[in-house]
Amino acid sequence: MTTYFSYPDPCLQDELRRIANAIVAPGKGILAADESVGTMGKRLQGIGLENTEDNRRKYRQLLFTTDKKIGEYISGVILFHETLYQKTDDGTPFVELLKERGIIPGIKVDTGVVPLMGSEEEGTTQGLDDLGKRCAQYKKDGCHFAKWRSVLKIGKNTPSYQAMLENANVLARYASICQMNGLVPIVEPEVLPDGEHDLERAQKVTEIVLAFVYKALSDHHIFLEGTLLKPNMVTGGMGYSCKFSAADIGKATVTALQRTVPAAVPGVTFLSGGQSEEEATVNLDAINKYEGKKPWALTFSYGRALQASVLKAWAGKNENIGAAQQELLKRAKANSLACQGKYAAGSIQSSAGGQGLFVKNHAY
Ligand code: 13P
Repeated sequence: MTTYFSYPDPCLQDELRRIANAIVAPGKGILAADESVGTMGKRLQGIGLENTEDNRRKYRQLLFTTDKKIGEYISGVILFHETLYQKTDDGTPFVELLKERGIIPGIKVDTGVVPLMGSEEEGTTQGLDDLGKRCAQYKKDGCHFAKWRSVLKIGKNTPSYQAMLENANVLARYASICQMNGLVPIVEPEVLPDGEHDLERAQKVTEIVLAFVYKALSDHHIFLEGTLLKPNMVTGGMGYSCKFSAADIGKATVTALQRTVPAAVPGVTFLSGGQSEEEATVNLDAINKYEGKKPWALTFSYGRALQASVLKAWAGKNENIGAAQQELLKRAKANSLACQGKYAAGSIQSSAGGQGLFVKNHAY
C-alpha cells in the first residue's frame, strides 16, 4: 500500500464524523432489525407466524411505531433491504417513522457468508460486487450508515490466518465503498461464542482479529473518525464449563479493545451474540463500569437482546402490540443506562429477560 494518499475531502469527513458521533451519543445505541428474510422467518416461526412479507412488515411496523420516547435511547436502526422500502398500514414509509423519532436509518449491505476452500469450516462474507451502486442508492433513500458482518470461529486451529486476513480485507473494502458514498461503515468482525474455550482464549483471539482489521483499515486509508466498530464482547465459549462474572467479561473486553482499537474510532457498538437480554445489559454495564482507559463510547447494537421480549409479548396478536412496544422501551432504557455504566442488575424486568438466545453457528 502506498504512503501517498488522501483522506476524504473535509466536507465528507465532517459528514461521516457527525453521523458516527450522533449514533454513539451518550445514553444511545442501535437496534439491529436487519434480520434477513430467512432469519426473520425463524423468529416469526417461534411465535407461530408464517414467514410472509406482510407478517415481516407488521412486525417491523410494531417496532417503529413505538412511542417517540424510544428516540431517547435508540439513535439508529439497522434495516434489511426489504424493510427500507416498506410502509405502515396507512402508507407512511418506515424511514419517516424513524426520522420522526430522531432515529438514523442504517442498512445491512452484506449478502451473507460463504465457505473458504481448504479451511476448517471458516467463511468469508459476500456483497462487494455492486456495493458502490447500492450504497449510492441507499444514501439517496435516507440511510446514513451501513453494516457488514464477518464471522470468525474459535477452534483448535481457527481462526486461521487465511480467514482473518480475508475477512479484514473484505471489511476494509466495504468500509471504503461506504465512506465514498457518505455512509458510516459499521465494521463487524464477530468472533462467535460457539466453542469450549475459556475467557483468556476468547480475549486473545479477539485481540488478533481486531489487529488484522485495523491494519486492513489503515491499508485502505479508511477515515477512522467516520467509522464504528461492532465487535463481540469477550466472553467464554458457550460450551465452557463455568460462567465468568460480568466484571471479568468487562475487564477482558476493555483490555482487548485498549490493545487494538485506535482512539480515533468514536464508538464501539457491541452485538449481543446469543446472550440473554439481561446478560447483554449487565455485561455492557460492567464494560462501562470497568476502570481504565476508554477513549471510545461503548454502547449496544443488539438484535436478539432487544427483541426477544418484544416477540414473546406480541405473539402475533394485534391486542398485544402495546405490551410488546412497552417491552422494547424497557430493554432500550436498560441498555441506555448500561452504556453509561448506570444499570443496576435486575432493576428492569422483561418477559424474556433471562432466556438464553444462543443459536449455533448463527447466521444473520
Ligand atoms: P445479535 O445482537 O442478535 O447478536 O445481532 C446483532 C447483529 O446485528 C449481528 O450482525
